[in-house]
Amino acid sequence: MNTLRTEAIEASKKSHSPYSKAKVGSALITEDGTMYSGCNIENASFGGTVCAERVAIWKAVSEGHSKITQLYIYTVDGWPPCGLCRQVLSEFATAKTQIFVGDAKGVEQEYSFGELFPLAFTPDKLDSIS
Ligand code: ZN
Repeated sequence: MNTLRTEAIEASKKSHSPYSKAKVGSALITEDGTMYSGCNIENASFGGTVCAERVAIWKAVSEGHSKITQLYIYTVDGWPPCGLCRQVLSEFATAKTQIFVGDAKGVEQEYSFGELFPLAFTPDKLDSIS
């Protein structure tokens, strides 16, 4: 997990956050052990803003990975993932996916994805549509 934390902190340094000034970094590990990281990227339209977690997820998925086993989110104050990121993560995580939230003081919280998002709207919900 120390590697994930280090990667998330490094990613946060690349944050494009001129509006909120909140630097967020995320790093994840896929099922085969590949690591991806991302930072938040804000946009003057605000609606075009993307969280660090989703940047990391999209980088992984765009490189052919669809199973995430661990995800770390770093902010100075230890912010958990927003609801939209939890929904996006539900497409590529399982209830057992480990989610780590870390802050600048080194305090870390660990959750299972199932704890963070117990009633996720997952792809299997669409199985009844044909
Ligand atoms: Zn988010």
